[in-house]
Amino acid sequence: MKVSHIEHLGIAVKSLDEAIPYWEGALGLKCYKIEEVADQKVRTAFFMLGQTKIELLEATSEDSPVAKFVENKGIGIHHMALAVEGIEEQLADAEAQGIRLIDKTPRKGADGMTIAFLHPKSTQGILTELCEKK
Ligand code: ZN
Repeated sequence: MKVSHIEHLGIAVKSLDEAIPYWEGALGLKCYKIEEVADQKVRTAFFMLGQTKIELLEATSEDSPVAKFVENKGIGIHHMALAVEGIEEQLADAEAQGIRLIDKTPRKGADGMTIAFLHPKSTQGILTELCEKK
């Protein structure tokens, strides 16, 4: 695969309302967008930190993957998103290298990105999202 930088870190929170004051207050970042992603059952809040974004994830339903994550592991870093060009080719390359794909084909993510997740069992324990601005 060819990756260029950490596009964002996805961070699971219990509540955006509780989490945002830390990022805005203590760290002095500005939340530039709050967006609900219905098919992932999350509400997201975005901050810019250099060229990397912070994506806070709040579950919108009990069967959301983020709700299960918080229940099992608590709040904290949920996934790392790597910026790529040509996400279809990168995904095919990942599969050719024996990496288990969660998303066989790219789909629409938050903040105008096309995304695909790789399984943490084949990415050294880190839930990894490939993403491309389209
Ligand atoms: Zn993400």
